Amino acid sequence: MNATNSQDRNGNGKKRVLILGAGFAGLQTAIHLDKILPRDDGVEIILVDQNHFHLFTPMLHEAASGVIQPGLIIAPVRRVLRNRRPIFVRDRVDAIDLDERRVRLCRGEIDYDILVIALGSVTNFYGIDSVRQRALEIKNADDADEVRCRVVESFEAATGEADPERRRELMTLAVVGAGCTGVEAVAEFHEFREHLLREQFPELDPHEMRTVLVEVQDRVLSTFDAGLARSAHRRMERMGIEILLNHTVTGLSERGLEFASGRPPLPSAVVVWAAGVAASPLVQDLPLEKDRMGRVVVGSDL
Ligand SMILES: Cc1cc2nc3c(=O)[nH]c(=O)nc-3n(C[C@H](O)[C@H](O)[C@H](O)COP(=O)(O)OP(=O)(O)OC[C@H]3O[C@@H](n4cnc5c(N)ncnc54)[C@H](O)[C@@H]3O)c2cc1C
Repeated sequence: MNATNSQDRNGNGKKRVLILGAGFAGLQTAIHLDKILPRDDGVEIILVDQNHFHLFTPMLHEAASGVIQPGLIIAPVRRVLRNRRPIFVRDRVDAIDLDERRVRLCRGEIDYDILVIALGSVTNFYGIDSVRQRALEIKNADDADEVRCRVVESFEAATGEADPERRRELMTLAVVGAGCTGVEAVAEFHEFREHLLREQFPELDPHEMRTVLVEVQDRVLSTFDAGLARSAHRRMERMGIEILLNHTVTGLSERGLEFASGRPPLPSAVVVWAAGVAASPLVQDLPLEKDRMGRVVVGSDL
């Protein structure tokens, strides 16, 4: 596939379906269309992603905590599509031109007849620059690696730290956002750090380790059934996780996480931001109907 040849669209006489993003939505769309469209119906399916692999995000926390190898949660897209019709192009999408029916990639352009936008989401920092600059995300395999490295490095630094306050800061991890991702992440990271301390850092005092979950609303898992959320809350507290509800984070400085309430900053060497997602910036300027989170409104047929 020569992605730079924009004349290709009608060159082979086939209608071109262009799918952007090989996440759950894009990859499934490519596989499904391949199944339901007859082979000879003159349709070409092209799938584009910036990565050569599909990432299984539900197990990203386990990869971050080292419970499983990161390689186990990625599947090469070309392998998934082997013996199927969709053609894979590994490239970054830079712009979408709906009028010209053309997508600009980092290394060229592709015209299309039908476009499926499945570029996923980006972390929403709600415009708080200090958080964007200092906090860690948990969106992809590199993020998972970084969280694990930061946890280990901060424990290493704590071993040589004589100042108890600074040592406690180095042994503190905070997760902001108590939705599904935040709750799962905080529990996984807490267990990982307990295990790491026991196994590799016997000189550190486990009582100095803190794991804190910060949430703006008055309960964890606010989109879930209240009983289920209460039981998750109790379970986390039993594990030793501190939960701060009704706390709006306003920044992240050298002093730690800062709050709107005026509560003193929470010093924490590792801060993971799991407070929400926003639609891909590539769809922001498209003249399409969006919901309040900036996501394109779709019907059951996409
Ligand atoms: C840590 C974590 C745990 C989760 N656990 C669960 C769970 O247990 N259950 C559940 O239902 N959901 C879970 N989710 C949510 C789930 O991952 C998302 O709902 C799902 O990934 C959305 O699928 P998608 O195809 O829309 O986007 P994505 O899976 O994000 O796929 C988007 C694709 O687009 C590609 N892309 C983005 N921008 C560009 C660009 N400019 N150029 C080229 N390619 C681009 C990306 O590389 C990616 O492959 C979890 C999410 C996270 C972060």
